Amino acid sequence: MEYITPRRKRKKRSKMWKELEEGINVQGERIAKCKHCSVVLSVHRDRGTSHLQRRLDRCVERPLGPMHEDDSDGDNFVFDMNELRKKLLVSL
Ligand SMILES: [Zn+2]
Repeated sequence: MEYITPRRKRKKRSKMWKELEEGINVQGERIAKCKHCSVVLSVHRDRGTSHLQRRLDRCVERPLGPMHEDDSDGDNFVFDMNELRKKLLVSL
């Protein structure tokens, strides 16, 4: 039997809005202001908000912590082959 939820699905609001402040600029356009470094980003309804998330990920003022999700491109990750080799030798 299928379970039907009585409530309608509400539009999910991205949690990045906890770090961005929504507003309107002098031209009447929608903007999003970074709460960390106050940079103002334009919001395009049709283009989505992925670019905002990307800017937020690159924010230099953004504190690292529970808010920050680790989805880096691996730029800071250094693969230590020697360390791995040592571990392999030990296991052998
Ligand atoms: Zn910022």
